[in-house]
Amino acid sequence: MPELLDPSVLLDRALGAYLGFAIGDALGATVEFMRPREIALEYGVHRDIIGGGWLKLAIGQVTDDTTMSLALGSALLQGGSAALVSHAQGDDTLVRSIGDAYVQWLKSRPVDCGNTCQRGILRYLHEGTLQGSFNPGDGGNGALMRNLPAVLATLHDDTAFERLSMAQARLTHHHPLSDSATLGMGRLLRLLLRGATQHACQTWVAQWIGANPTFHITPYRGRATAYVVDTVQTVLHYLTLHDDFEAALIATVNQGDDADTTGALVGMLAGARCGAARLPQRWLQRLQPAIVRAITDQTRGLLMLAQTLHPSLFDPPSTGIPNASF
Ligand code: MN
Ligand code: MN
Repeated sequence: MPELLDPSVLLDRALGAYLGFAIGDALGATVEFMRPREIALEYGVHRDIIGGGWLKLAIGQVTDDTTMSLALGSALLQGGSAALVSHAQGDDTLVRSIGDAYVQWLKSRPVDCGNTCQRGILRYLHEGTLQGSFNPGDGGNGALMRNLPAVLATLHDDTAFERLSMAQARLTHHHPLSDSATLGMGRLLRLLLRGATQHACQTWVAQWIGANPTFHITPYRGRATAYVVDTVQTVLHYLTLHDDFEAALIATVNQGDDADTTGALVGMLAGARCGAARLPQRWLQRLQPAIVRAITDQTRGLLMLAQTLHPSLFDPPSTGIPNASF
């Protein structure tokens, strides 16, 4: 793994991930809840950002996947470095700010909101609890889908990454498969942001599935529902099958079902792999400009925030040589 990272290369990969996520959301939403056969009948191969779908979206409009991620990112940026450091040291204030941001998001009448997300946000609003008890019905992909800003904000500190990811996830989802998927896909994103090759990505995925066999992808079962196992299998299958961003994303969304969310996650991971400069312009230009601006601002801010949790801040090297790696 390359240890010294050029900040401009890291920014390009992080922007690739966040913009790729929004592209996948906007592209996939058109065919969300359709079967592959229905998609083929209506579109041949669905490959353009055209809006529509069951949510009757405008061209380039994104859904809850992206807007909920932006809500999480806003809460992290508002808390700033003080809140992030306090949370890493065990304080809950930041998690309440994230819960408040999800409440505000829900009150803003988002175009869509999953049942488990809604139930969890309302529980936080009415009871003030930071998580519910284990619920076998919480195995959806809603916590996993929005974790990107938490990954960026804790990029240089694995313990903080795990703690923050679990805290934001448990606000709405309490299920071991949701937990494993959120951490697993977060770790894969961290790896790709550091410049992992497609071969390294495939090796990591094989090892992770070895440790988490429920998510096995051989043979790929062709299911792409919002059940977190189906979602992760679809994402890992197409991400490891195609090195190319466009090929991976088109194959993913044409699998239908929860296509905006599988699309967003493949867009995120493949976008980190290729970087923003290599995202297809025809897709990037269709995204709503306000969303592109918000994502660009957040990405820069979250990467700056990540410096707060650089390990050397807590454990300064005794040699006096600045620790430039992470
Ligand atoms: Mn959605
Ligand atoms: Mn969805």
